[in-house]
Amino acid sequence: MLCAICALGEGRRTPLAEAVRESPDRPVRIVCNAGDVYAYQDPGVREDTPEGADYNRKRDLDILQRMSWPPGIVLPARTAFMMLLERIPTVEGLCGYETVTAEGWRGCERAHSGAYERGRAGDIAALIPPRPQEELQAEKARSIQALHEAEEVSIRPHILLCAVCQYGNGVRPPYPPDNLPELLQLILHEKPDLPIRMARGADWMMCAPCPARVPELNACVNVLGSGGLSNEKRDLDLLQVLGLQFGSVMPARELYRLIFERVPSTAPICQREGNVSPGCWWDGCGESNVTAGNPRYDQGRRGLMAVMNQT
Ligand code: SF4
Ligand code: SF4
Repeated sequence: MLCAICALGEGRRTPLAEAVRESPDRPVRIVCNAGDVYAYQDPGVREDTPEGADYNRKRDLDILQRMSWPPGIVLPARTAFMMLLERIPTVEGLCGYETVTAEGWRGCERAHSGAYERGRAGDIAALIPPRPQEELQAEKARSIQALHEAEEVSIRPHILLCAVCQYGNGVRPPYPPDNLPELLQLILHEKPDLPIRMARGADWMMCAPCPARVPELNACVNVLGSGGLSNEKRDLDLLQVLGLQFGSVMPARELYRLIFERVPSTAPICQREGNVSPGCWWDGCGESNVTAGNPRYDQGRRGLMAVMNQT
């Protein structure tokens, strides 16, 4: 994986980099010759680079230890690379050392060339291209039209709360990255009884223009490629609190009245105590909600309740 980044820094793409660009969220199994009770996943030395078996074994274990990954872990490729880029800023001390104690510990001739560091400076976009701007703009236009024509709107549950945080933060339409402010405007000023259906995943109607949506998978890859995992849990936590299920349908204002009554704070739904970055459960909202709920939600909740009580 480090060699794939190093090659990017030299203007090359390894077969692994090509495979990840073709299918960024395919699972990758990360193995090493760890031995001991992890011997079941040892890959052998057939694909070792020339630095030698012991050097490669040590380097692989160094990387796994820094990542807090067990040998044999399977992760989506995007997640694995994003975590790696975050956690390993340089290959100094991994692929090469200032002091060479013996020939078998010389390391890789590219270690001090700066190639890995240059490849890493391109960020994940150098490995996995982002969704094109034209595609996002076209999806925004198409989904907003669908929203205004819809007799029923689908949405993944917890972003009903994110819509309140955005409202409290002063976000109003038009909002390019998602359709939540447009939905609130519709509910507040045009269609208070619009039926809202609880949907799984990064459902198109609200998430269509989001840079973090993977359309083919209906998945959310925000944060470090695993945002959809924490979001799925938030969806289910909210459904449980509301006594609803995926597939449940409620009129919009009735739904928001239920939310405002049962969710006075985002903390129980959004916090992720003990999850550190980089990790598949970490995100900024999870961290900031550990000490208290999002103050923008409090502002948004009060503001929306006031508008709903007046109209
Ligand atoms: S605090 Fe929770 S509800 Fe608010 S934006 Fe973050 S994830 Fe969404
Ligand atoms: S794709 Fe993910 S980050 Fe984007 S709006 Fe949907 S849930 Fe939010």
